[in-house]
This record gives sequence, C-alpha cells and structure tokens, in this order.
Amino acid sequence: MAAPTRLLSRLAVVSGGGSGIGRAVCQRLASEGASVVVADRNEESASQTLETLSRHSKGQEHMAVTVDVSSRESVEKLVTIIQCQYFQPPSVCVSAAGITQDEFLLKMEEEDFDKVIQVNLKGTFLLTQAVSKALVAAGASKGSIITVGSIVGKVGNLGQANYSASKAGVEGLTRTAAKELSRYGIRCNCILPGFITTPMTDKVPEKVISKLTSMVPLGRMGEPAEVADVCAFLASDDSRYITGVSIEVAGGLFIG
Ligand code: NAD
Repeated sequence: MAAPTRLLSRLAVVSGGGSGIGRAVCQRLASEGASVVVADRNEESASQTLETLSRHSKGQEHMAVTVDVSSRESVEKLVTIIQCQYFQPPSVCVSAAGITQDEFLLKMEEEDFDKVIQVNLKGTFLLTQAVSKALVAAGASKGSIITVGSIVGKVGNLGQANYSASKAGVEGLTRTAAKELSRYGIRCNCILPGFITTPMTDKVPEKVISKLTSMVPLGRMGEPAEVADVCAFLASDDSRYITGVSIEVAGGLFIG
C-alpha cells in the first residue's frame, strides 16, 4: 500500500513523462507528495500527464517542460528552467525517455543505430550529469537518480541490436554514477522492465506479444504502474541503503 506522504517536499523530474511508464511514474511520485516536472519531447502529451497529477498540499506544484534528452543544450535548459521555478535542483531524477527503431542486425542502418543510442543512452547520461552537477553545486545532501534500462539489455532480443546495446549501456552508466556520486549522498539505481503494456509495445504484433507473454512466469504483460511502484521505492528513503543496483520488473522473465 502506498505511503501517501513518503515523497512530501521532494522535487522530481521525469523524462519521457508524457507517456507509458514515464507518465505512470509522474502520477505515482505526485500521489506520494512530490512536486513533479513532466519532461518530454512531446509537448501535448506532457501537458496531458500534467493534468492528471494529484496535489495534496499547497506547496506541491507540478509543471511540464518540453525537452529533447539527446541534446545537451535542451537538457541544460530544462535544469535551468526547474531551478528558476523551484529555486532548487530536483533531488529525484528519472530517465524514462526512450525509443525503439527495430531491424535485424544484417539490415540495420547506421543512422538507426545512432538514433537509439543518442536518446536512450546519451540522453540518460546528459540528464543524469546535468541534475547531478546541479545537486552538487547546490550542496544538496541527498539525491536519487533512477534510470530505465530493459531486461533485453541483459539477454538481447531479435531485431534490437541498437536498443539492447543502449540499455546495457544504461546499466553500466548507472553503476559507475553510483560509485562516483555516493560521496555526495546521491544514489543511482536502474530499473529493468520486462514487457510492459505501453504505446511502445503497442507497436509489437499481437502474435509476438502472445509468444512473449507465454515466456513470462507470471503469465502476463506488466502494467506501467507496476514499474512506477518500484520507482517510488527507489526515490524514497525506504531505499536509503541501496545504490548501484538493477531491479528487474519483468514478471520473472529470464529468471536465472
Ligand atoms: P513510450 O513510447 O510510451 O514513452 C516514451 C516517451 O519518451 C514518450 O513520451 C516520448 O515522447 C518520450 N521521448 C522519446 N524520445 C525523447 C527525447 N529525445 N527527449 C524527450 N522525450 C523523449 O514508452 P514506454 O514503454 O513508456 O518506455 C519508457 C521507458 O521504458 C523507455 O526507456 C523504454 O525503453 C523502457 N522500457 C519499456 C519497456 C516496455 O515494455 N514498454 C520495457 C523495457 C524498457
């Protein structure tokens, strides 16, 4: 059961907050008392998420900001906007923005490889770095950086050489960030979703989905809210002695 005030007076930024897992994370963090900055490339969907966010107290204020996480300039502008609005950097940073551009390795265009790396891996690096720098500069005593990898970063997946490489990279980035930033009180952890029902997986043919679902020990796709539950735990002090880990939220897919 959610503790409704676990994130009271926390400020969180969520990239990819306009859809799927990112939207569910925004809703969950807000429901636990955090002020949430919904950051997404898609302005309209970010505004739609913003409209759904709950407010428990007068001090809890949310906003939506358009950002392209693959651009350093855009990410730095996002952090500047947040600091101007709230007079502090976000102490919770969730990198959920991500894309797929699937093709078999033998046919994959270099451009499509680069595009996925730019958003999923470099975008996570840029946001993690910008928020961490702001936290250290502000002398903050704690922070929680949460990245979103994927189970396919560990096991690979047909047609996803670019995507699985980007997600394996996110895990390595997160573990290194955890080692470097712990002395500033900043914890860094990675969530590895399995197959979650979102607009991203809506693109996958029904036949493939039912084959994949049959491989999941819990026998179904996951819901974005089930990923958001873990994210809220990692954002909160309930996980205060946890850093540098990857948590699979995959219904038991690929156990062992
Ligand atoms: P989604 O497509 O529903 O949402 C992704 C969001 O990211 C969109 O709102 C999109 O506008 C935003 N985005 C894309 N490029 C961006 C950019 N350059 N800058 C800012 N925002 C950008 O996808 P989802 O399923 O909710 O995925 C969220 C995260 O979870 C992704 O990193 C994805 O790789 C990861 N993931 C998803 C699944 C799954 O089964 N759905 C499994 C494993 C990992």
